[in-house]
Amino acid sequence: MTGPKKKLYIKTFGCQMNVADSEQMALALAEDYVLTDRPEEADLFLINTCAIRRKSEEKVRSLLGRLKGLKKRRPELILGVGGCVAQQEGERLLKAVPHLDLVFGTHGIYRLPELVRRAGKERTVDIELSPSFPEPPPRQWQQGQVQALVTIMQGCNNFCTFCVVPYVRGREYSREPEDIEEEVRSFLAAGGREVTLLGQNVNSYGRGLAKPVTFAELVRRLARLPGLERLRFATSHPKDLSQELIAAFGELPALCEHLHLPVQSGSNRILAAMNRRYTRERYLKLVARLRQVRPDLSLSTDLIVGFPGETEQDFEDTLELMREAAFDQSFSFKYSPRPQTRAASFPDQVPEAVKAERLHRVQALQAELTLAAHRRLVGQVKEVLVEGRSKRSPEQLCGRLRTNQVVNFAGPPTLVGRLVMVEIMEAHPHSLKGRWVEELPVR
Ligand code: SF4
Repeated sequence: MTGPKKKLYIKTFGCQMNVADSEQMALALAEDYVLTDRPEEADLFLINTCAIRRKSEEKVRSLLGRLKGLKKRRPELILGVGGCVAQQEGERLLKAVPHLDLVFGTHGIYRLPELVRRAGKERTVDIELSPSFPEPPPRQWQQGQVQALVTIMQGCNNFCTFCVVPYVRGREYSREPEDIEEEVRSFLAAGGREVTLLGQNVNSYGRGLAKPVTFAELVRRLARLPGLERLRFATSHPKDLSQELIAAFGELPALCEHLHLPVQSGSNRILAAMNRRYTRERYLKLVARLRQVRPDLSLSTDLIVGFPGETEQDFEDTLELMREAAFDQSFSFKYSPRPQTRAASFPDQVPEAVKAERLHRVQALQAELTLAAHRRLVGQVKEVLVEGRSKRSPEQLCGRLRTNQVVNFAGPPTLVGRLVMVEIMEAHPHSLKGRWVEELPVR
């Protein structure tokens, strides 16, 4: 292409996987488009969607409604929807939204240049799911970027009865370890310090490769790369959390002492109906083993309240498990039926008012547990990776502990991207307040 590049705006909904996918979209289109943060000046406006809950899907539809005026003022704008809602709805979405030009599914990212060209001439849909992925082009790291999301696998084979992911992202597919290592090495060479490995279920990484590799082996291989200060990963399925990976938490200094381990429910009856394939006893045993190996491990989880058939006793079991596991953080949601999933047709759907009341109770308990965990940190001096200015008070800096809590503290902006030691002074419900003690040398 000659002449100036056109402008691309991407609005991302949902999880870290989607954030990583949006980066891949920008990379796939980099020859013709440059990213802008001003939607009104975009030549191409992409919405990367999430279908995991009905609420996130509703947000996409509402944004599409609001974009009608922009498309009317600028008919040359190409408006596209990608990701899980696009995969789920396909042609139906194009029919329902007359000002939409392009619908592309979760496997369409690498076909984007061709799809966008076609969408400039005629309305286009591509929701083909392929059995594998092409290896993405080399990443372009931003100046000063110290954190990176690295996708190591796509898809899921687990078919939890509430979850739409296996239908919209297809079966599990792992990248070769050599390719992942190369990507991480190039990031570290560009000054990177923290890597988060991503997949729907990272614990089953490597099973389908010609030379199978376990996730723990991949973690060991990456954690030893010179320059890598912090290694994280998400998301783990408890049924596949191996002893080998638990042991790695005690052995690898770069592996952060934080684990996101979604439990979803504390009731064995509901866990079975969800097809999670572990019990509350097994989950708590895993937590005990993890804390044996790494006593300062911080634990976060996902919880669904009001799954079909959930009784008050089932729900009480969830609250009790939360207390026993002492989660540092949890992401809790009301169950919402998703198309194609088995639970959508289960009898005994729980009334909305009951779900709302249970969600309130779960969140109140979590607020107590989180504040208690934050209070335990007061007085300690902790390592913080400085991420930028605090959103609430821009005169303060904001960073994260290895255990994932957010810390705000006063310090010069030159510390952004650096590792520093901070004394924790105050515990708040969602963050900590600290005092900068010293900067750490580059290791
Ligand atoms: S493990 Fe279960 S909840 Fe997670 S993506 Fe797969 S089907 Fe969905």
